[in-house]
Amino acid sequence: MDCIFCKIIAGEIPSKKVYEDDTVYAFYDIAPQAPVHILVIPKEHVLSCAREIGAEHGALIAHIYEVMARLARELGLEGGYRVVTNAGEDAGQTVLHLHFHMLAGGQLGAMA
Ligand code: 5GP
Ligand code: ZN
Repeated sequence: MDCIFCKIIAGEIPSKKVYEDDTVYAFYDIAPQAPVHILVIPKEHVLSCAREIGAEHGALIAHIYEVMARLARELGLEGGYRVVTNAGEDAGQTVLHLHFHMLAGGQLGAMA
């Protein structure tokens, strides 16, 4: 499959890893939109887009949010953070492998 994020997980494209476990991988975004910009993704290409999330993915999604909360503690993001998921064309999704943007490191602007 020609997926950038699958290639990152396979190590075919280098990335700056922040966290990894059996199911989730987190790494710094190549074009940061905030002082701290991390992408958190399922290791398996289970879903291309958040629009496909069903009840059967509940445990995975909950685990991703738990990982982000843990990262915030470990990275000292006491001021908070924002989670963004672009789902589909109107949101400007460019990589079709489910992913969560974690933005932090200062006062963030208003949301669009
Ligand atoms: P989307 O627009 O689909 O919500 O987000 C895709 C994100 O992936 C963008 O923020 C983009 O900067 C990031 N990205 C695309 N290619 C790469 C890459 O090769 N490495 C890293 N670290 N991030 C990437
Ligand atoms: Zn993929």
